[in-house]
Amino acid sequence: MNMQDIIRKKRDGGELSRAEIRFWLDGYVRGRIPDYQSAALLMAVFLRGLNETETPELTFAMRDSGKVMDLSGIAGITADKHSTGGVGDKTTLIVAPIMAAAGLKVAKMSGRSLGFTGGTLDKLESIAGFKVGLTRREFVAQVNRCGLALVGQTKELAPADKLLYALRDATATVESAPLIAASIMSKKLAVGADVLVLDVKYGSGAFFKTVASAYEAAGIMVEIGWAAGQKVVALISSMEQPLGRAVGNALEVEEAWQVLCGQGPQDVRELCLALAARAIVLAGLAEDSCTAQGIAAELLDNGAARAKFLEMVKAQGGNCDFTGLPKAELTTSFTAKESGYIYTLHAELVGRAALALGAGRRVKEDGIDHSAGILLQYKVGDHVEAGESIALLHGNDKKGMEEGLALLERAVVISKKSPKIAPLIDKVV
Ligand code: URA
Repeated sequence: MNMQDIIRKKRDGGELSRAEIRFWLDGYVRGRIPDYQSAALLMAVFLRGLNETETPELTFAMRDSGKVMDLSGIAGITADKHSTGGVGDKTTLIVAPIMAAAGLKVAKMSGRSLGFTGGTLDKLESIAGFKVGLTRREFVAQVNRCGLALVGQTKELAPADKLLYALRDATATVESAPLIAASIMSKKLAVGADVLVLDVKYGSGAFFKTVASAYEAAGIMVEIGWAAGQKVVALISSMEQPLGRAVGNALEVEEAWQVLCGQGPQDVRELCLALAARAIVLAGLAEDSCTAQGIAAELLDNGAARAKFLEMVKAQGGNCDFTGLPKAELTTSFTAKESGYIYTLHAELVGRAALALGAGRRVKEDGIDHSAGILLQYKVGDHVEAGESIALLHGNDKKGMEEGLALLERAVVISKKSPKIAPLIDKVV
C-alpha cells in the first residue's frame, strides 16, 4: 500500500477501504507520512466527500489513535453532551446538572474558547478555585459520588484529531461535513458515554452558517454514534443571535446560576430543557420527549439540578459563593442611535466584541480575562428607543472597549420593521 495510490483513488472519486484509511492515519500520527501527502488527501476528501462507510471508519481510526476512556468503573448510565460551539452558550453548566439530577452519570470533557466562540472550561475557571484537571481515578470517583464531573480533555484522547485539525486549518479543508463529524465523534467515542446529546448550531455565530449544513453534519454524527453502539440524538439550534443575554465567562456563569435558580433568559432555559429531555429519553428514563421535558423542568424548578451544580463545584474545589465572581473595572453602554426594533444581533460580531474586551483567545496560547464580556439588554425583536442602552460592555482596558463598541456598531441592526424570528430549535435528528 502507498500514499500516492490512496490519494489518487480519492482524487478520482473512489471509496477508501478500512485498511487504506488506517494505513494513512496510523502513518500520519507516527510521522511516517508527511504533511504534504496528508494535505493532498484531505483536499481530495474535501472535494469528493466520504461515504457512509468511510466516515465511520475514519472516525474509529481517529478514536483508536489514542486512549479510549474506561468508564466501566462508573455505576449507571453514562451521559455526555456536546455543542458545536457558539456565542453565549452556557448550556453545559445547566444541562449536565439536570441530567445528573435525573440519575444519569455525566462524565464530560470540555474545551476552551478559541476565536469568537466560548469554552466551558474557561467559564468554569472563572469560579475561584475550580479545578478542571482531575486524574482518571478522581474523575470516575466524582461521577460515581455526585453524578457529574466537568473536566478538560486529556492529550491522549484522539491525538490524530489534533494533528489533522491543525493541518485542515492550514489547508482550507475545515468546512467539510464528514471531516467535522469524524473530528467531533472521534473525541466523543473516545470518552465512550452510553448516551450523547449533540447541540448542532447554525447561523452567524456558529460553525455551520446554514440549517442545511448543520443538518447534514448532525445526520452523519448521529449515524456514527449508533454504529459504534452509542445512543445519540442531535438538536439543530439557532445561533443567529447570542444565546441568552450574557457573553463572557463570569457573566455566563452568573446567568447559568440564574437559570438554575428558576430565573434567567427564556431561550437558555428552553434549549437546556430540550437537550436534557433528549438524554433522559435515550437513557430510557421517560418514554417520550414531552414526558422527559416535564421531568427536566421539575428537576430545574425544584432545586435538584441547582444542588447538583453546587455539589460539583464544591467537589472540584470551587467557591460556591457566586457573588464573588470576577468583576470588570470598567463598564460602558452601547446605545441605540435610533428608535425601532432590534432586527439583527449578529452573533459572530458580538462574540468578536467580547473577544476584543478580553473574554476569549485569538490564538490558543493567549490568556483570558474572566471578568470581561457583554450583557445584552435587548434581543432580536425587542423595541428600543433612541439613546437607550442595548448592551453593557464589561472590560478592563479602554482600547478593548473602543474595539468592542465598534464591533457592536456592525453587529446591531435597528429597523422600523419587526423581524421574523426563526425558532430556537429547528429540528431533532
Ligand atoms: N469542532 C471540532 O471538534 N472539530 C471540527 O472539525 C469542527 C468543530
